[in-house]
Amino acid sequence: MATPQKSGNRKSPFYTFLKKRIMRISLILSAAVLLAFLPYKTSESASNLVAPIAVHEITLIFTGDIMQHMPQVDAAWNEELGVYVYDSCFRYIKPWLAGADLAISNLETTLAGKPYSGYPAFSSPDELVKGMLNAGIDIVGTANNHCCDRGRNGIERTTSILDSLGMMHMGTYKNAEAYGKTNPRIINTRGFRLAFLNYTYGTNGIPVPENNVVSLIEKDRMQSDMKAAGDSAVDMKIVFIHWGEEYQRAPNDFQKDIAAYLFAHGADIIIGSHPHVIQPMEWRKSDTLKKDQLVVWSLGNYVSNQRKRYTDGGTMFSIKLQKEAGHTKIKDAGYQLTWVHNPLEKGKRQYYILPAARFENDTVLLDPQARGDLKLFLSDSRELLDGNNLNIKEIK
Ligand SMILES: [Zn+2]
Repeated sequence: MATPQKSGNRKSPFYTFLKKRIMRISLILSAAVLLAFLPYKTSESASNLVAPIAVHEITLIFTGDIMQHMPQVDAAWNEELGVYVYDSCFRYIKPWLAGADLAISNLETTLAGKPYSGYPAFSSPDELVKGMLNAGIDIVGTANNHCCDRGRNGIERTTSILDSLGMMHMGTYKNAEAYGKTNPRIINTRGFRLAFLNYTYGTNGIPVPENNVVSLIEKDRMQSDMKAAGDSAVDMKIVFIHWGEEYQRAPNDFQKDIAAYLFAHGADIIIGSHPHVIQPMEWRKSDTLKKDQLVVWSLGNYVSNQRKRYTDGGTMFSIKLQKEAGHTKIKDAGYQLTWVHNPLEKGKRQYYILPAARFENDTVLLDPQARGDLKLFLSDSRELLDGNNLNIKEIK
């Protein structure tokens, strides 16, 4: 799929609402203008010209885990400016994120303020979110096993900082009222009405602070969420879920059971993360089913300091949705492999998320060692996904 340029990176719920309105008005105006200038056309050619307007398409991009180990936090520190700056981390993949109508990431850390820390109790600079927004990320899931790392302050400060910076979020909530208001997360964009749901299998054994809400994988909860999404007449129900066995390159029985349950209760798309490695992707087409089912078992790491084989990269997963005469379907789906380059530059560590296929033969940014690691990641990932994916191909 191509990478169209997103007209504006920031889309608050109000902005998406406004954008949708403008889209609708412009569609009506375009149709009116076309018809006004077609007095000599036959009705057949007029309908040919007007017909495409009824088809809408949007592209969604999902990224894997955005982690912040301490070397990454140190790398983001800009000595001259005296602030943390994350733009360089996203520099090479920004065109794809910014080009999507909606870009969704798993924020696997908290914004609990100082002192910042990496594993095992993450708290990262707020500037990370500014970097993500600048790159074109629109929504983050915060339901993951690290969301309770810094207790109540971690949960509550994270959501309030995301709100104040204009990043949409889902999965953890200050209290039941906030949960009730924004779960499911309904997003209206360019004529589409989408429900996003975010869950985690657990919180590393740390109890959820009293009155805070973490959206856990619980069948009753998921069933009522699916119903709530259905009641609000959405075009698609999209589940962003934190599950699976760390470092396992295939889904386990728990993932398969939960996916089957979600599909049975109306989910259209399930995108998973947490194992720190990529797991396969399946687009089961509707020939034998009532409707399509799309599941990505694990996106892998988007950015982290993990360097072991299979963990030093991940995927950006693109889905094109099409809406025609009120019917919405998955038009296309594919993935791009991403690899984290972490060179020492002038004595300072850097982290760059690279669209890996574009750097396969690069000799400018990558030294032979890095190029070898990138190539190994590509060949490992391609072998896994070519051999196990269903109807989903790489985008190069
Ligand atoms: Zn995790």
